[in-house]
Amino acid sequence: MKPLIELTGVQKFYGDYHALRDIDLTINEGEFFSLLGPSGCGKTTLLRTIAGFEGVSEGSVMIGGKDMDGVSANLRPTNMVFQSYAIFPHLTVAENVAFGLRKRKDIAKSDRPAMVEDALKMVGLAGYGDRAAHALSGGQRQRVALARALILKPKVLLLDEPLSALDKKMREQMQVELIRLQRHVGITFILVTHDQEEALVMSDRIAVMFEGEIGQLDDPETLYRRPKSKRVAEFIGKMNFLPAEVTSASDVIALDVAGLGKCEVPQEQAPGGATVGSGVVGIRPESLGILFEGETTDRQLVDAVVDEVVYYGDMTYYDVRIAGVEEPITISMKNMIGRPVLDKDDQTQVIWDARALVVMP
Ligand code: ADP
Ligand code: MG
Repeated sequence: MKPLIELTGVQKFYGDYHALRDIDLTINEGEFFSLLGPSGCGKTTLLRTIAGFEGVSEGSVMIGGKDMDGVSANLRPTNMVFQSYAIFPHLTVAENVAFGLRKRKDIAKSDRPAMVEDALKMVGLAGYGDRAAHALSGGQRQRVALARALILKPKVLLLDEPLSALDKKMREQMQVELIRLQRHVGITFILVTHDQEEALVMSDRIAVMFEGEIGQLDDPETLYRRPKSKRVAEFIGKMNFLPAEVTSASDVIALDVAGLGKCEVPQEQAPGGATVGSGVVGIRPESLGILFEGETTDRQLVDAVVDEVVYYGDMTYYDVRIAGVEEPITISMKNMIGRPVLDKDDQTQVIWDARALVVMP
């Protein structure tokens, strides 16, 4: 993997407001990279410093081994697609896409129609050139914006919440198309999103941001399975938290988990590090189970009472209470033939396994 974008010690202040805090970040050639975080955490600001719409207060931005200090946005090998489609409704599709070429005096007028058609083909709009932009659907407009950004073959495409204005179905369809498009053109995509599912589905790697800082940078599976902190775990999917006492933190970590009891886990299950003393363990709803009548398990069991049942058709989510834990614990179970759906106040047994625990500071 070859580094393409390298941010070192990047700080950004808006007056007194510290919007980016000491960002060190390397993004590789051909990578589908996502910036994920709650609204206001600095995702757009970070994207704009890469694009050159925003200068940095301290630190450096390098693209392709060149320092971008003083290099204006239109001279950088990047192009940006915005949340709002920002296409011109009174122009045709082809005119909108050709707009991406307006500053390129070096490209002959006669070459432009073929370039426009190529770009439209890339986004699945071949033959749409003569249509009026205002007559397009939301998904089609976003494709026009993509074609306009891709026509100059940038090294990096910056996408600031490009799908957030679309309805759920269209958004899921465009996610698949964006992945296909990125593989096809092979350039680096940097996607900004506040939607954790979107980031997990689409990205090679994800940087999770909070308050101007990167909380964790990993591939989707590592982020989901091995969150380094409680706030990352809370932001990505659903996680139960149980108080735990760490009694030893050498080669293996010895724990006494509230409601579950004593167990040992390897160091990998404490990605954020572990120290002796009180801490917390995380456990995903799908890593716990309910022991139904007639079923057996070789895993650990603990008595529980059903507190809440939410039926999703394919899945049922149970909130259960176990002795020694204040908050109910959520368990997701696949609904299967022969497996009943329990009711509130039913007595049951919860299946758990130390391999599914994540120890957090
Ligand atoms: P995100 O894209 O993650 O929602 P932004 O990068 O847009 O967040 O904003 C991060 C923080 O910086 C916010 O608190 C926002 O109010 C502030 N901010 C962004 N742009 C400016 C600006 N031009 N002037 C002052 N504050 C700004
Ligand atoms: Mg934003």
